[in-house]
Amino acid sequence: MPELPEVEALAHHLREHVTARLVARVDVAALTVLKTVDPPPSALHGRAVTGATRYGKFLALHCLEREPGAEREPGAEREPGRDRERGELHLVMHLARAGWLRWSENLSPVPPKPGKGPIALRVHLGDVLGLEGRGSSVGFDLTEAGTQKRLAVYVVRDPAQVPGIARLGPDALALSRDGLAALLHGRTERIKTALTDQGLLAGVGNAYSDEVLHAARLSPYTTVGRLDDDALDRLHVALQEVLTAAVDRSVGQDAARLKGEKRAGLAVHARTGLPCPVCGDTVREVSFADKSMQYCPTCQTGGKPLADRRMSRLLR
Ligand SMILES: [Zn+2]
Repeated sequence: MPELPEVEALAHHLREHVTARLVARVDVAALTVLKTVDPPPSALHGRAVTGATRYGKFLALHCLEREPGAEREPGAEREPGRDRERGELHLVMHLARAGWLRWSENLSPVPPKPGKGPIALRVHLGDVLGLEGRGSSVGFDLTEAGTQKRLAVYVVRDPAQVPGIARLGPDALALSRDGLAALLHGRTERIKTALTDQGLLAGVGNAYSDEVLHAARLSPYTTVGRLDDDALDRLHVALQEVLTAAVDRSVGQDAARLKGEKRAGLAVHARTGLPCPVCGDTVREVSFADKSMQYCPTCQTGGKPLADRRMSRLLR
């Protein structure tokens, strides 16, 4: 599942490759991914892309209606109030568990066949503004592997009209140490649950919460409201360092050309049974109904394996 670093890398890729291009056509191959009705995707046709932004794990492409003589310089700052008046629309994408954005400089002009294959949406991008008539076959597909079908696409006049964006907590990369402390103060859930709650803290999912907790040397079962000052310091540093390093790696790998699940540089996540790169202990796993988390006992839990409810049930 793409999390903050991968979605940030996708936003970076789109900003570099799409800004100032015109949206030629949007093909919807899987109607179920489209969560809004009005405006329709065809309302994006002919608009100029002015940029891309990440909101938590959501990705938005900003598309401005063209007004002859009133076009913003490519790369110029967004002006949300003025742009809304001028009819800015946003294509908002949530890649969810098995979704990905596949960039192509040789995109097929044919609409993908509905109900066949993993392509849910195809966005054809046309000429660069001011260079009309040169022709272009660049664009991207939104794909979804597997059967869960959670990929979601919205066409909205304001990104905050997407319920998942409206309820986002502060971005994980934007929080100060004191902001983090205030956010977690008095809460009673486990830290693994808190870090992945998008309404509390935006951007971190199952993979990077494992990595952040390992780097902070904290048990995933720690009650967040009971973190002492030293633990809060470590957690804040780990959040910044783990996410920043992962953003840099993802941007360097050109995320739009990679598979979503391919991540480099992980210490514990998806590494059950392998040695911890810090201490050499064996990485362990706790499984739940539809996911699992990994941790290092020596680094995080005083050497003690955590209770695995599924295992305990089986052994009872
Ligand atoms: Zn370790």
